[in-house]
Amino acid sequence: MKRAVFPGSFDPLTLGHCDIIDRSINLFDEIIVAIGINSSKKSMFSLKERKKFISTHYINESKIKVMEYEGLTVDFCKKVNADFILRGLRNPADFEFEKAIAQTNHKLTEIDTVFFLTTAKNSYISSSIVREVIVNNGDYTKLVPACVRKDYF
Ligand code: ADP
Repeated sequence: MKRAVFPGSFDPLTLGHCDIIDRSINLFDEIIVAIGINSSKKSMFSLKERKKFISTHYINESKIKVMEYEGLTVDFCKKVNADFILRGLRNPADFEFEKAIAQTNHKLTEIDTVFFLTTAKNSYISSSIVREVIVNNGDYTKLVPACVRKDYF
């Protein structure tokens, strides 16, 4: 079984994340969207809310699972028997950052990272921009899937 882990904070799920998941889904038998728990990072949405956004959006997609993890992503991959890490690239800064992490992960475990370039129309979207728009009462609805607004706003 070809299983990939798509790790991230997903605070909250955005159309940018969905872009990567939707376009890579045919490559894998299963994608585990894995919410990394980082106790030193304060999130806007609780773990429960973040999980619910993802599971609600992909309720009819049996290949998508949602899990949480602590510690190294590669250790989580081993635990769930995933051979691939999935990541999205928006810009050169993402590339530089992701390159070192992917090379380290491969050195540690031989797990490969598969990158998808975002489609141009979603390349500016990030969870942090969405949070900024929400905090300032802006119209965030064009940046996130419907479930993010329906349940919580
Ligand atoms: P992290 O804190 O690990 O970056 P995020 O939830 O912000 O967590 O992102 C998870 C993954 O989704 C990363 O690979 C990131 O590059 C990707 N991603 C986020 N927004 C977009 C976007 N607009 N287009 C493509 N990939 C994206």
